[in-house]
Amino acid sequence: METCIFCKIIAGEIPSTKVYEDDEVVAFLDITQTTKGHTLLVPKKHYRNLLAMTGEEVGALFSKVPQVANQLVDNLGAKGLNILQNNEEVAGQTVFHTHLHLIPRYAENDGFI
Ligand code: 5GP
Ligand code: ZN
Repeated sequence: METCIFCKIIAGEIPSTKVYEDDEVVAFLDITQTTKGHTLLVPKKHYRNLLAMTGEEVGALFSKVPQVANQLVDNLGAKGLNILQNNEEVAGQTVFHTHLHLIPRYAENDGFI
């Protein structure tokens, strides 16, 4: 997908602050830091969103969550973490390459919901 901004980040054509990478996924800081450490966990293969993926593919993506989430919580001293995932424009999706928002939480009124 030549025009996909996350494919360009994965290819190294656009800079990002990567916090985790393996053969299947990459995690990098969201350009908008809803809270400190707000991270996007992204499969390296392009899918429009979760609705375009099989259960196996979704499972493979979510299997990476504990490692990346614990890394964020431990390194940042967060007390918890929200996962947010938007599918299609009506649901708030703005980048059409599947991603999970990992949002570290420090307090109930730290800027997110
Ligand atoms: P969505 O609204 O599709 O669930 O989330 C897309 C996210 O991608 C937004 O939170 C937005 O801040 C982030 N984003 C958009 N463009 C870039 C970019 O070029 N670099 C990074 N790191 N994040 C981006
Ligand atoms: Zn893409």
